Amino acid sequence: MSTFKAVVIEKTEAGQSIGFQQVGDDFLMDGDVTVRVTHSTVNYKDGLAVTGKSPVVRRFPMIPGIDFAGIVIDSASPDYKAGDEVILNGWGVGETHLGAYSERARVKAQWLLPKPEGLTLAECMAIGTAGYTAMLAVMALEKHGMTPADGPVVVTGAAGGVGSVAVTLLSRLGWHVIASTGRTGEAEYLKHLGAAEIMDRAELSAAGRALGKERWAAAVDSVGSHTLANLIAQTRYHGAVAACGLAQGMDLPASVAPFILRGIALLGIDSVMCPVAKRREAWRRLSIDLDRTKLGAMTTHVAFADVLDTARAILDGTVRGRVVVDIGWPASSSIETRQPVRGGVRPRGASGH
Ligand code: NDP
Repeated sequence: MSTFKAVVIEKTEAGQSIGFQQVGDDFLMDGDVTVRVTHSTVNYKDGLAVTGKSPVVRRFPMIPGIDFAGIVIDSASPDYKAGDEVILNGWGVGETHLGAYSERARVKAQWLLPKPEGLTLAECMAIGTAGYTAMLAVMALEKHGMTPADGPVVVTGAAGGVGSVAVTLLSRLGWHVIASTGRTGEAEYLKHLGAAEIMDRAELSAAGRALGKERWAAAVDSVGSHTLANLIAQTRYHGAVAACGLAQGMDLPASVAPFILRGIALLGIDSVMCPVAKRREAWRRLSIDLDRTKLGAMTTHVAFADVLDTARAILDGTVRGRVVVDIGWPASSSIETRQPVRGGVRPRGASGH
């Protein structure tokens, strides 16, 4: 039986541990398609899974990693054959089903999408769940009838993954984009992606008034908590806010006033169980509407061996834009020893990208 490298999270009475292991095909869970993973990525949720800071992982042992791109090795499904290039985002992979930080994955065929035309496998992971979620948020605003003519759009967590892709997409689609960030030193980066204005996130992060001055027509929020409440309170009459994240917190200390006095819409965005037709449309739109050069500018590549440090760094807010993990292992490297999940390993190689 051939073996391959994977990151494995284990749980014992002593607690959780994480590290690289050499495992065999019999380690993988049921599924009708086996894929050689060529690329993965690091999303905020991957940081939560790797550090154990939130109960993202609900089955042990687990291979973390919620996104992969790769090449089909073996398929019992009529929809895929060996050699096909495929991508996967979510569906509980890396949470309840063995995930992407592995040289090999076995999954259900209906979770896969053929690699979108015009994008490489690496570009698909540069986009990843974060970028595909940004597209879902843009599509939700459009479905609500919002257009650039309605006024500015604000993007929170702008220097992060969802934020960087949202800024790039919305500016390309003609919106006046206000980028809200705690990293004002990244102003030039955000302007390069298409931001027209930079706003210090401190303007939104503390408890605010139930209704404020109407400042923007729309918003894409990956932060939650007071930031989301303030976004809603300062959205123009009949505007809309697409909410997808919780980087500040899961709470929503808001008032109903903006909803009942200004007709504001709060649009919830879920990428994990999103129906296939909407996913296909999101990826089709990404292949058309996302500026490939700017995608390159927001992307850093890390080696598979560095995935754990990068996943820890994303929770510290030091990862800029998007990260592609090149899955594959230098022949001379040995397998890393197992570490406690809260091992306090200093993030390296992930800041200042
Ligand atoms: P990143 O870490 O790349 O981006 C998050 C950004 O949020 C940071 O870069 C930072 O931006 C900002 N931020 C971090 N901490 C705080 C804080 N305490 N207060 C205010 N802003 C903060 O993560 P992702 O882009 O991968 O994910 C963003 C969020 O979206 C996460 O909460 C994630 O769980 C969620 N998400 C949800 C999905 C869904 O299906 N609903 C799918 C994908 C992601 P800056 O430095 O610019 O201020």
